[in-house]
Amino acid sequence: MRDLIIIGGGPAGMTAAVYAARKRIDALFLSKDIGGQAMWAASVENYMGYQYIEGFELMQKFEEQVKQFPLEQKTGEEVVALSRLDTGFEVKTAKGESYKAKAVIVATGKRPRPLNVPGEEHLIGRGVTYCAVCDGPLFTGQKVAVIGGGNSALEAAYDMVKIAEHVYLVSLTTLTGSQILIDRVVDSPNLTVFIEHEVIAIDGESLVEAIVIRDLKSDEEKKLKVGGVFIEIGLLPNSELTGRITKLNDLGEVEVNCANETGVPGLFAAGDVTNVVEKQIVVAAGEGAKATLQAHKYIQRL
Ligand SMILES: Cc1cc2nc3c(=O)[nH]c(=O)nc-3n(C[C@H](O)[C@H](O)[C@H](O)COP(=O)(O)OP(=O)(O)OC[C@H]3O[C@@H](n4cnc5c(N)ncnc54)[C@H](O)[C@@H]3O)c2cc1C
Repeated sequence: MRDLIIIGGGPAGMTAAVYAARKRIDALFLSKDIGGQAMWAASVENYMGYQYIEGFELMQKFEEQVKQFPLEQKTGEEVVALSRLDTGFEVKTAKGESYKAKAVIVATGKRPRPLNVPGEEHLIGRGVTYCAVCDGPLFTGQKVAVIGGGNSALEAAYDMVKIAEHVYLVSLTTLTGSQILIDRVVDSPNLTVFIEHEVIAIDGESLVEAIVIRDLKSDEEKKLKVGGVFIEIGLLPNSELTGRITKLNDLGEVEVNCANETGVPGLFAAGDVTNVVEKQIVVAAGEGAKATLQAHKYIQRL
């Protein structure tokens, strides 16, 4: 039985880990990967101390800082179950390992929301992508579709018009992103915007070949030949682990109070997976710090 398990290797989890090491808590830090969503940020201009840094580089610096401390760390570990025990919690991983601790911090962040249309799952990594920043250059000179109408979709479209032959921007609603981004994107000569259209299928055998879209007003269907589809329709909280034992809000986020407490004694949560407003690296890092300091007090009280 350890004192603390931290789940998630994004800004919240890594900051929580550094605070745990500095408090000399007997902690285990478990994560599927390192960096989380911040790895997808092409440029970060709002993390204090750096006027400009790539998300990838910032996360490398976070990781180096975690590794400075003698903390038990296991990456490549997906937690698949979290349950309550009389004396704390048990965490099970996809590799079949089981770990126990008096307290747990859940910092599992968010993941891209899927479209849930035929062809999508089969073609992931074969032209279907959820990260224009990461995969955009793979589609240089090709026709691509960007799905969504918010800031992420507009940013993806803005990046792609510079390198793709043609970009189709397909949105269920009118464009909802910031006006600056809309203005930047819509006048591009190699961009066609389909507003109030839904994607009904992604076609292709071994690679994406086309998408099928439907006009919500006229019901007319169109096939657009593309080699890549960037799905940028928002994020879902990775809250399935905690959903069974604590309360989630309407968005599926873990409800916490300002001390990162979930309502289950010993179970804390931090960062984008929670209902804390504003999903930002600096906010997630601050929440991770707070969660460990609160967990430390909880462990001391036991
Ligand atoms: C494209 C993009 C650009 C952005 N740009 C900026 C920016 O410029 N500035 C800014 O401040 N913010 C930016 N953000 C937001 C910022 O990245 C997030 O707010 C921040 O990463 C949240 O940190 P987190 O640690 O809470 O969660 P995440 O970053 O989502 O990390 C969650 C971690 O938990 C792990 N995990 C999830 N489930 C499990 C499980 N079951 N078992 C084990 N591990 C698990 C994941 O693998 C990951 O390591 C951007 C986000 C995106 C998507």
